[in-house]
Amino acid sequence: MSQQQTVILVGAGHAHLHVAAHAEALVKCGARVVLVDPTEFWYSGLATGMLGGMYEPEADQIDPRPLIEARGGEFIQDRVESVDSCARQLHLDGGGVLAFDYVSINVGSRVDESAILGADNDPSVWSVKPVANLWKLREYLEARFCERKILRVAVVGGGPTGSEVTANLTALAGCYDIDLRVTLITNNDRLIPEAPAGAARALQRKLTKRGVVIRTHTHIVRREGESLIAEDGRVFEADVVVLALGLEAHPLVYKTGLPTHPKNGLRINAMLHSIDDERVFAAGDCAAMEGFNLPKLGVFGVRQAAYIHANLLASLDSKPLATYEPQKRYLAILNLGDGTALSTWGPFWWNGSSSMWLKHWIDHRFLKQYR
Ligand SMILES: Cc1cc2nc3c(=O)[nH]c(=O)nc-3n(C[C@H](O)[C@H](O)[C@H](O)COP(=O)(O)OP(=O)(O)OC[C@H]3O[C@@H](n4cnc5c(N)ncnc54)[C@H](O)[C@@H]3O)c2cc1C
Repeated sequence: MSQQQTVILVGAGHAHLHVAAHAEALVKCGARVVLVDPTEFWYSGLATGMLGGMYEPEADQIDPRPLIEARGGEFIQDRVESVDSCARQLHLDGGGVLAFDYVSINVGSRVDESAILGADNDPSVWSVKPVANLWKLREYLEARFCERKILRVAVVGGGPTGSEVTANLTALAGCYDIDLRVTLITNNDRLIPEAPAGAARALQRKLTKRGVVIRTHTHIVRREGESLIAEDGRVFEADVVVLALGLEAHPLVYKTGLPTHPKNGLRINAMLHSIDDERVFAAGDCAAMEGFNLPKLGVFGVRQAAYIHANLLASLDSKPLATYEPQKRYLAILNLGDGTALSTWGPFWWNGSSSMWLKHWIDHRFLKQYR
């Protein structure tokens, strides 16, 4: 009888939720399937709405343990410290060592706090990742609002995340009828630079109407006391800073000994495994697909999910692997915190309550699958 093969899923990210929910196929193939994650999965699609007071944190989380255990797999609540691709072992924070035949990594991304000198370890600076930070930020702000303190908040980063966070900060302040002074700072010449210009103008109008001060062409380089200092010497005072600088791959993929892209993660091919090791798969924000520069968005992890599952199954069965091709266009919907949302799809955009309805439907349909 052949020896049982072990498949380890590192991180309960978007792709691995799908693999966990379909783990019985791998188990039927004779494999031991283990999912390792230190926490619950926090869904970023609802995160800014949670910050703005629209959702409570429970609505934004999925517990991966029952998901995989109900399908014959195992769950280990721990953090993976490193993956030794040569020895086919991974090391856990708690001291354990797990041997694997196949490993798939779906650990997401981080904000590079070191891009702003003095930002890391400053308790007044909040990163948008991990997503649970946005719940802690809401709790912090709500406590300050109860003291009726006027706060100055600076959001650094004018991409979709920074803009959505800004809109929802004003929504949260609105719930408490508080005067929150919000400045949105970007080094670009406009907000959401990848979106159509008309969409960016509509967003800017909406935020400005709510009292948000928008500073374009401003490259923040340092945090000193309550000041944020721009490259050209301008100073912005802020009691609270939110960093939405753009995402880079989780540091774990740089501890695999396998080829990586400097910021985008483990270099993978169209079969979603490392270009150097067909036993190490990766998906989502921690993976850099050869020939593409995919934005760090959950939608790509969601699309890759079925391929990761199929290719793990094919590998166990020694069958040919499927190839994934990323979609050229994707729907992005920004929750603007006032019951409306801004949708973009390639050159098209629209904004209003129908966009918010669509976002709500998509997000809840996604979460329902895994509850
Ligand atoms: C505020 C905000 C809003 C966003 N909104 C959207 C949106 O509306 N639509 C969209 O498409 N994208 C959105 N994004 C981007 C989106 O969050 C990411 O692209 C997405 O989360 C990446 O998914 P992933 O599956 O790669 O990883 P994640 O969803 O981040 O999951 C990673 C998992 O790995 C686990 N993990 C981390 N380290 C370890 C370790 N060492 N060992 C074991 N497990 C580990 C984590 O606990 C987590 O469960 C948003 C991002 C932010 C910050």
